Parts: sequence; structure tokens; C-alpha cells
Amino acid sequence: MNQSMRILVTGAGGFIGHHLVKRLRAEGHWVRGVDLKHPEYEKSDANEFELLDLRKFDNCLIATRGDIEAVYNLAADMGGIGFITAYHADIARNNILINAHMLEAARLQGISKFLFSSSACIYPQSKQSAADVIPLREEDAFPADPEPGYGWEKLYTEMLCRYFRQDYGLDTRIVRFHNVYGPLGTYEGGREKAPAAVCRKVALTEDMGTIEVWGDGEQTRSFMYVDDCVEGLLRLMASDFHEPLNLGTDRLITINSLFDLVCGLAGKKLIKQHDTSKPQGVRGRNSDNSQLRRVLGWEPSISLEDGLAVTYAWIRQELERAGRLHRKELALSEPLRDGSGHSSLAVWAERCEF
Ligand code: NAD
Repeated sequence: MNQSMRILVTGAGGFIGHHLVKRLRAEGHWVRGVDLKHPEYEKSDANEFELLDLRKFDNCLIATRGDIEAVYNLAADMGGIGFITAYHADIARNNILINAHMLEAARLQGISKFLFSSSACIYPQSKQSAADVIPLREEDAFPADPEPGYGWEKLYTEMLCRYFRQDYGLDTRIVRFHNVYGPLGTYEGGREKAPAAVCRKVALTEDMGTIEVWGDGEQTRSFMYVDDCVEGLLRLMASDFHEPLNLGTDRLITINSLFDLVCGLAGKKLIKQHDTSKPQGVRGRNSDNSQLRRVLGWEPSISLEDGLAVTYAWIRQELERAGRLHRKELALSEPLRDGSGHSSLAVWAERCEF
């Protein structure tokens, strides 16, 4: 994707979509963003931004009109583990409608490339029952036993993409994200993911206070900073790879260690209170990046320490602006202030006044 293209990003009011629009614009592309809502924390860089409910087919036709060449279909009704555990019917119905209608609209409009954002939630639950889980390879998806609701819907849409490519020649890409985090993502209200929830809780808890952890905290995950996610999306779209591809890091960490890491960044000592009645999802989940390295010749490289430093600083700043921090917190430690060489991390570090 070297020359300038006309690109549609659905879910452009959401976390990954908003970052993706910024990057595509910076690369010189013309971008239409579509969502149910505008981005919450800053204005979109999109050339056009339209509020449309993509569950409705007519709206998908409007979204894809006007010589769009490529679609990044990121729109989805989704959230953290609490949300996707509680709303199986809403999530499955809404997302199947969005994805089926977007694929059909793209086909009718003669759009050449269509990227679908799938998820690590499609992997069989039976292969994720141990905290020291074997990293998941793309071929582990079958025999199918995905996360109820959200995972089934994502897996079915992966198959729909395959059928549209085989029967209609739509040039599809399928990415399976593993836990993306970073600034400008939802950090409260039920739809936030673990890293944002941990940052919020740590920022709102006074030093030596008590902090709630869902489950026993020994469940494991891997986490990818949003800049790596966007880089991977662009690389996958530019490739000719049609099969599902993992996009995540392969550094496994327990939720307890994630809390410890953020506490370290915040300069706080907190006492964990485990609530085992809360949903914690599968016991362990990690990404096998062999295929990612082979196909894209690249893999995510931003460390959890660097990414979380920026994410924590941004969430803390949002809470401070809202007048929700009770007392002046300790400043972040010096080595984290320079963003460790990644230019956008450095920009965020400056904006968040570390
Ligand atoms: P997000 O919730 O921030 O963004 C999704 C956006 O879709 C939201 O802004 C929402 O308003 C919009 N949307 C929902 N229903 C819509 C509708 N009917 N019409 C138009 N827009 C609608 O989520 P995100 O983290 O940016 O995720 C983007 C994509 O990546 C989603 O498809 C998600 O399932 C997938 N994904 C994300 C992660 C992650 O860790 N963030 C992990 C796996 C998969």
C-alpha cells in the first residue's frame, strides 16, 4: 500500500480504529471513518467521519460508497471479559449483522481488499486450561470450541470471509488480535480490557491501599501495544496472505504480575484482594508468532513496560483532569520518561507530562 488509497475504517470511533485512522492519514491515504460514535478522547483525523449503525445493510452500502479500495472492518460490539461473558446474544447478533452486511456491501461495491478483525477468543477453550499454556498456533482453531458468543461470532465470520474470497473473489485478510492496549482506549464502564482496568484501579487507589483483582490473578495473557497492532495491520493488508494470522506478543504474564508492573510504574505499594466470583476467562492464553514472523517478516517489539508506562500516564492524566485523584501521586520513574526510543511513545510521554 505505497501509493495513496481511498480507505474505509469501520469502528473508527473506537480504540484501535482511531489509532489506525491517524496512521493511515499520516501515510497520505484518504480515509473515511464510520462508527456509532465519535472517538471519545480526541478528534478523528479521518477525511470524512460518518455516524452509521452498520448492523443495517443500507448503512453498509453508504459506508462503502464512492470508490473505496480497501476496508478495515473493526466495528464490533465488544468489551472486556466481564462484558463478553454477560452479553452473548447481543454481541453475537450485532456482530454477525455488521460483518455479514459489510462483506456483502464490499462485494457489491467492487471493493478490492477487506480486512476482518478477529480475535484470540476463537481458540478452543480446552487448549487454554493451564496458566502455562502452550502458545496458540493458527491451526489450533479447529476442532472448534471458542469463547461463547463473541468467539463463535468471530470464528463464523472468519469462515464467511473465506467463502466470499472463494466464491466471489473478494480479497480478504483475517487478523486474530491478542489483547491490545494503549492510550485513548476505554478505561472504565465495563467495556475496558484488563490493562486499562488495572491502570485505572492503581491510579485511583492511594499508596498502601487495597486493590481488587478478578480471579486469583494467576490467569495469564499476552499484551500488545496499539502502535504494534497498527503496524501489523498495515503489513498484513499489504501482504497477499489470506489465512487467519495471529497478531500479538508472545510474552506471557499473570494478571497479578500485570498489577505489580503497573504499581511499580506508579510508585505505589498496594494490597491485592482477589475476588474469585468475578469472571476471569480462560486460564491461560498466548500467541504463537511463528507464522506472523514467516508471513510478515516482523513481529511486535514494544515492551510491556514501555507501553504500560504511557498507558498508565494517560489514564492517570484523564482521571486527574476529571478531578478524581484525591492527592498528588508520585511521579513516574525517570527511565520511563523518554519512551525508550519509540517515537510515538515519546510523543505520548510529552503529552502526559510525566
Ligand atoms: P472498540 O470497542 O474500542 O471499537 C469498536 C467500535 O465499533 C466502537 O467504537 C463501537 O462504537 C463500534 N461499533 C459497535 N457497533 C457498531 C455498529 N452497529 N455500527 C458501527 N459501529 C459500531 O474496540 P477495539 O478494541 O478498537 O477493537 C476493534 C476490533 O478488534 C473489534 O472488532 C474487536 O472485536 C477486535 N479485537 C480487539 C481486541 C483488543 O484487545 N482491543 C482483541 C481482539 C479483537
